[in-house]
Amino acid sequence: MRKWLQPVILLLFFIVPYFDLFRIDIPGGQYYWFTRRLPFSQAMPLLLTVLWLVFLVLGLSFFKPRLFCSHFCPHNTISKFLRALQRYKLDLPLAILLTPLVAFTLIAYFVDPHRIWSALTEGTSGMVLIFFLVLCLFIGALLLRLRHKFCSTVCPYGYIQQMFRPERTTTLGKIVTAALLLMLGGATVLSVFFTSGLEIDLGTIARVNAGNRMIYTYELRLVNNRKQSESVSVTFHKLEPIRNPFAEPILIQSGEAMKIPFSFEVQQTQEVEFDVCPQQPADCERFRFSLSGT
Ligand code: SF4
Repeated sequence: MRKWLQPVILLLFFIVPYFDLFRIDIPGGQYYWFTRRLPFSQAMPLLLTVLWLVFLVLGLSFFKPRLFCSHFCPHNTISKFLRALQRYKLDLPLAILLTPLVAFTLIAYFVDPHRIWSALTEGTSGMVLIFFLVLCLFIGALLLRLRHKFCSTVCPYGYIQQMFRPERTTTLGKIVTAALLLMLGGATVLSVFFTSGLEIDLGTIARVNAGNRMIYTYELRLVNNRKQSESVSVTFHKLEPIRNPFAEPILIQSGEAMKIPFSFEVQQTQEVEFDVCPQQPADCERFRFSLSGT
């Protein structure tokens, strides 16, 4: 199994961020999970994914010593491949080629790849450029010189694994670990599908006394983090706003942010209740409050 798993994991390491399968866009305040774009404010899938990855990397050690190192770690796969090329004297040229590619890919897990590219080619972000150069130095040292020496001397995972010896783990412990990993993986996938990529927020703009009545002005804020456009309808159940701007559903394009002001006019205390609904009814958000006429 190791023979095919190692190249597959290595390939995944290189393609996952570029196809938006999983990456965190720190400057953009969002992250991608199987091409779904989600804001940091809806962080549950991100937290569960990180938790699952940590559990997976640690939990694998319960089944076989250094199982993660031998089957999954991209550094081990590349180092083994470079060692095999040593006799043809091709390891150094390949290590030189791989260094910037690995550094670029690692940063792409945390910064939009287009942003990194423009930082490198047009100098648009000094921070990204410095980070890339520092990472190139580190990866270069790893691939050109250290290779497997890194595992025995520096890598913290090598030390951590000593705490999780498979021979000390009972069969029940292994079953519980496997069940926990499966449950956490399932919860992670479910959380993505139950998380909306649409941000809905209500802001108060003004409260004006107009003689015998009060005028309250609000702003409905919508941000579409999805990859496709979204139609949003607003339904008022009690008091209607003045010149209702939501008579027709609102079309919001992918990546677009909208602020739609609307006002209520009241002479006495009145209840306001309305639903803001994207195409998926499960993502509806209800607002309910009362307005005073004085
Ligand atoms: S010790 Fe660290 S770098 Fe080496 S194979 Fe294991 S995880 Fe990878």
